[in-house]
Amino acid sequence: MSYDALFYAGSEEPHFLEACTLCSKPLGLDSDIFMYRGNTPYCSEDCRQEQIENDEARERRWKLSSKKSAETSKKPASVQTGTLVASN
Ligand SMILES: [Zn+2]
Repeated sequence: MSYDALFYAGSEEPHFLEACTLCSKPLGLDSDIFMYRGNTPYCSEDCRQEQIENDEARERRWKLSSKKSAETSKKPASVQTGTLVASN
């Protein structure tokens, strides 16, 4: 047991290229790897496309819900109406 072994174990790079992010299929060195957002690998264009669609759906939901809450908080507490003056 050497001190060096401990040191190297702590400075290991993450193995993010070992498997498809979506279906966890192992990615070999000779197989095609489809990258998305810089560091997430996928085994096929289909897997990557599904992830892109998932992300877009999530973003759309988030925007919709944040817009909705902004509208409800913007709503005035009391509605101002014009003053009616009786003319008779
Ligand atoms: Zn996959």
